Amino acid sequence: MTLTLHNTLTRARQPFEPLDPSNVRMYVCGPTVYDFAHIGNARPVVVFDVLFRLLRHLYGEDHVTYVRNITDIDDKINERAAESGEDIRDLTTRTAAQFHKDMAALNALSPSIEPRATDHIPHMIAMIERLIGLGHAYEAEGHVLFSVQSDEGYGVLSGRSMDEMIAGARVEVAPYKKDPADFVLWKPSTPDLPGWDSPWGRGRPGWHIECSAMGEAHLGETFDIHGGGIDLIFPHHENEIAQSSCTHGGAPLARYWMHNGFLSVEGEKMSKSLGNFFTVNELLEDWPGEVMRYAMLATHYRQPLDWTNDGLTQAKQSLDRIYRALRALDDVEADEAEVPPSVLGPLTEDLNTPLALTALHDLTTECNKAEREDDKGRFKGELLSAGRLLGLLQEEPDQWLKSKVRKVELGLGEAFGEGVGPDSILDDADIERLITKRINARKNKDFAEADRIRDDLAAKGIILEDGPEGTIWRRG
Ligand SMILES: [Zn+2]
Repeated sequence: MTLTLHNTLTRARQPFEPLDPSNVRMYVCGPTVYDFAHIGNARPVVVFDVLFRLLRHLYGEDHVTYVRNITDIDDKINERAAESGEDIRDLTTRTAAQFHKDMAALNALSPSIEPRATDHIPHMIAMIERLIGLGHAYEAEGHVLFSVQSDEGYGVLSGRSMDEMIAGARVEVAPYKKDPADFVLWKPSTPDLPGWDSPWGRGRPGWHIECSAMGEAHLGETFDIHGGGIDLIFPHHENEIAQSSCTHGGAPLARYWMHNGFLSVEGEKMSKSLGNFFTVNELLEDWPGEVMRYAMLATHYRQPLDWTNDGLTQAKQSLDRIYRALRALDDVEADEAEVPPSVLGPLTEDLNTPLALTALHDLTTECNKAEREDDKGRFKGELLSAGRLLGLLQEEPDQWLKSKVRKVELGLGEAFGEGVGPDSILDDADIERLITKRINARKNKDFAEADRIRDDLAAKGIILEDGPEGTIWRRG
């Protein structure tokens, strides 16, 4: 099966041919660790996690190297630490640990290597020295700047002319710059800020050089895929390309550039001032991580993603449906099954996750319809292997459904409890009391009362299912 990917660099979908199939190499820009990750930060993590899983599936688990850095030196970090008084190292360590916890809750695998910027300062200094030596960078007033005029290829990724770039970017005008578009590789640090000794005095790196240096250190001069959010195309990725390819005699930094689309919330730009700013951590209080992951994958990665409560509710219902099918097959042993082509195929076509999820539901329908034991085992196996590839269905079905499914044995308990008020919120005990009451009504052949209880519960979104072993309920 051929993998095709949309390449931002060529603006076309291309067959993916790795430089070395025994070591497929991917770099994705990671978090700047000063605050909780918001859902916009989580999107590239989930998108490129699917790609990582797919590459491992296609090339073998040991033949993919995925590097995602941690930016632990940045002005935003310094500002936050200065505001709160927290030690910078404590702030970045604590935030990175929280990031790992949140992304694990979204079923994102750890990358193969997670380099920290502060562990690569000598690498950055060496790269800057080479750029100066080659005439691509210059020192001015304790700063080192990259000279965009020295790079003929500058603008190749974003496709912008120099004038557009200067007009569109918040270019910092500084008297020491030869050209307003020149960007910082190194800047001086005051004694209260983190700094490292360098040939240009005590200072700290610019953000762009961090990624170029970490990419080179762990993946070499040219690697296969570079990913990130669409907002990073310019200037961050454009500048990474300029730094790396100028250091490496024109060798391309990455052969395929992939970018996920923007994320909005209920149709609006997410912002703290609009009050629609959500961190992964706070959303996890209301939604299982797998629901959030599903909601992200329901939109193709290149499309803008509108994060809505409806979308999350639908994702929850979709997963519940699949987990119910799996629970019904609890006693059936799953076959060792390949990922079915109906799921794998769309993923190899530029990560078409919405289509893969549709296929997952068709497979669920097959599971539900299956009557022969061997069909059940096969469909169950296919569902599970497709789930693994997508990073879904990682919970035990019973566990997943447990929080909202209670079984009340027929004939147990006394009939008691109050009726269902129009605004009352039912807890599990209330529901079980009402189910018991209904069971007793049926035993007394008071079917009108039994139906009334069922209808009252349905109006509250509680669905009852009568089966041979008793009544099962779930929140619809
Ligand atoms: Zn980067």
